[in-house]
Amino acid sequence: MHRVKIIKEFLKVKEITIKISGLHTEISTDSGTIKAVDDVGFHIEKGKVLGLIGESGSGKTMTAMSILRLVPPPGRITRGNIIFEGRDLLNLTKKEMESIRGNRIGMIFQEPMTALNPVIRIGEQIGETIAFHNNLSRSDIKQRVFELLRQVGFEDPEKRYIQYPHQLSGGQRQRVLIAIAISCNPSLLIADEPTTALDVATESQILYLLRQLISGQGMSMLFITHNLNIMRRFGDYVCIMYAGRILEVGSVEDFFSEPLHPYSRGLLDSIFAFKGDETRLKAIPGFVPKLSDLPEGCKFHPRCMYVMPICKKNEPEAKKIGEDRWVRCYLYQN
Ligand code: SF4
Repeated sequence: MHRVKIIKEFLKVKEITIKISGLHTEISTDSGTIKAVDDVGFHIEKGKVLGLIGESGSGKTMTAMSILRLVPPPGRITRGNIIFEGRDLLNLTKKEMESIRGNRIGMIFQEPMTALNPVIRIGEQIGETIAFHNNLSRSDIKQRVFELLRQVGFEDPEKRYIQYPHQLSGGQRQRVLIAIAISCNPSLLIADEPTTALDVATESQILYLLRQLISGQGMSMLFITHNLNIMRRFGDYVCIMYAGRILEVGSVEDFFSEPLHPYSRGLLDSIFAFKGDETRLKAIPGFVPKLSDLPEGCKFHPRCMYVMPICKKNEPEAKKIGEDRWVRCYLYQN
């Protein structure tokens, strides 16, 4: 059976919203080709949150841009499958993709001030997305905007409708962006560090709101973050990225109780105290390598305390080691 057909059958059985496999995105530079996303694969079930976690430059945002087919030139997707609602997004025309972005896939960005147009009223900005994807009258769109403003926690939607972004706080602006993202009832939300610019109290409110929306509407979510603490509270699955690759995938319970990959363990040890085990790493030595200057073999080997001769020569494959559990490391290859 053809590969895409097999994936489609799998999605029906498991109620999977999106499945990505073998995704490669490259960037051409004067000094050569950089593999920003290298053989990335994961899936997100209906109503679940998958946290894509990694340090700056690990490929998280480029993965999201690849899903949305918004990779800026000179970057380009070279291989892979992105099966969403029965279609491979990589085979769609530009027009078909426009009908999915903002409609079936909602997007929430990091900095609410720059994501909103400062000279257009809040209500009109939300209404624009609805009008683009739906054939509704002006008054129906306005009513839908009021409904959305209420849904994201504004008790006075008529007042908010006519306000400009600078008249709202950071948390309120992020609520407006969430209203735009869910305005067409998407089945998938992609949120790129949506709470980074917010204080801790507002962050909790926004996470609570997102969780309510996901449970209430059965949406799935790809949540990009470098913050493991947030994912422990908010996520269902964790996907660890490093140097453009996925190193480990697992449920939040499995990952936080028993991280497998040495990089995952280092990340957790640098944040959480592990009682009674002083042999664990407390900080990861060295630095994240530049994508233009990656080491041979396992890309984490210069920083790994378990490095073996084979690690320096060949890169390990991702290996399935349990239900929804994958790891890319020679310690788990037998
Ligand atoms: Fe460490 Fe080798 Fe595993 Fe890489 S493959 S994380 S170097 S043990």
